[in-house]
Amino acid sequence: MVIVDSEGQTRHSTVTSKIAIQQSSIAIQILCHGTNESQHRKDAMFVTLMMAMLVGAKPAALAADEQFSVYAPSQEAADAVLSEAQRAYREIANEWLSSANTKHVRTIIYIKANSEDAYGKSILVQRDSKRRCNIIWIHSRDDRDIDAGTLWHEIAHCVLADRFQGALATAIHEGCAARYDSGTRKQLIRQTTTRLAESKTWGSIIKLLESDAIDTSDVKQYATSIAIVEFLLSQGDREKLLRFGAVGTSSDWEIAIRKHYRYQNMNEFDAAFAKWAHQKYGSQAMISQVNRK
Ligand SMILES: [Zn+2]
Repeated sequence: MVIVDSEGQTRHSTVTSKIAIQQSSIAIQILCHGTNESQHRKDAMFVTLMMAMLVGAKPAALAADEQFSVYAPSQEAADAVLSEAQRAYREIANEWLSSANTKHVRTIIYIKANSEDAYGKSILVQRDSKRRCNIIWIHSRDDRDIDAGTLWHEIAHCVLADRFQGALATAIHEGCAARYDSGTRKQLIRQTTTRLAESKTWGSIIKLLESDAIDTSDVKQYATSIAIVEFLLSQGDREKLLRFGAVGTSSDWEIAIRKHYRYQNMNEFDAAFAKWAHQKYGSQAMISQVNRK
């Protein structure tokens, strides 16, 4: 995921993720907040990104509506992905942004078949405080076997970016999108959350929330983001979670946690999270071990 923003902010960060697993792998994601580069350099960067996405795609068919343009190796695949993308955006927006009037931007989806790995990535472009477009790239081994979970994950990033632009913590962004993961990817993350919950080795939650850079090749950070979102959803609804994510990103996490949840500080939050996670994921692990015997 890339956000290009020409607001002139000083923050500049990169998120890279790739989780290699047996049948599939999770997106390479790059998140860039505002930089001090000149407009010219930003334009050049944008064009480079666009070109990088186009090179090698060699799409044979296009399916489009007023929101999506889907390029795929066959018309059948393009039509199917367009239909699924429309459904995913509609359902995710209804699920997460029921009271918000979100204005969507054009989303271009490239399907690359015959790929060695199956994964997705998205680039979310905003400039001059305006969202410009989203670009999603879905790699699959076969154009008749495109992973819907991967598409939904990337569409979730687009829905959140259309609503919050760059003003939502990366960990919250990722934790929300990952709820649409499926199959082997989901199993791998569940194994990691179980291990972290039992060993209580989550690491610093506030550092993760503050971070613009989540390296999810470190599965621990990705799994922690998912667990934090799940924990917060056990403490309140989706609207509260996203408000918390936006307020914390733009101000201070200690203030945000006091304002939105019942914790006085991050230490109290960390302890409650670890206790909750141990009960939720740890007990599940014990049950599955019993079932295996
Ligand atoms: Zn993601």
